[in-house]
Amino acid sequence: MASESTSYDGGCTCRAVRYRMTSRPLFVHCCHCRWCQRETGTAFALNAMIEADRVELLQGKVTVVDTPSKSGKGQKIARCPTCRIAVWSNYAGAGDRVRFVRVGTLDEPERLPPDVHIFTASKQPWVVLPGGTPAVAEYYKASELWPKESLERRAALLARAAGA
Ligand SMILES: [Zn+2]
Ligand SMILES: [Zn+2]
Repeated sequence: MASESTSYDGGCTCRAVRYRMTSRPLFVHCCHCRWCQRETGTAFALNAMIEADRVELLQGKVTVVDTPSKSGKGQKIARCPTCRIAVWSNYAGAGDRVRFVRVGTLDEPERLPPDVHIFTASKQPWVVLPGGTPAVAEYYKASELWPKESLERRAALLARAAGA
């Protein structure tokens, strides 16, 4: 059982969908790519990457919408069937085993600030990045930035996938 301090609850705007992340995420991306800007209607997207089996649906269900993505391989965005707010997505790269939870849908989004800013080459010019948080023009290697525990969790995920 995850303790209260390491779980994170969230949901959509109409509150039909409620979910819980049962541990800290693997890593939190603040993505400044033009695709995220368009999909959110704002300057960037904030995504907490976490194993799919560490996200519990507490209430309601989600509708999965196939959506084009920057990679060309598509993404599956899980939305509330009523208010249509996006709560997480799965990208082709990481597959169904990793969810990208929309940090802004958490009840306490301030608990998960970005671990890295990505695609800063296309960030809005008025967005000033804080010192102390890694920032890359495009993408990065997990092995260079992720904490050891997250790399071990990722390795476990890949091992399980290979064994399946
Ligand atoms: Zn809703
Ligand atoms: Zn993006």
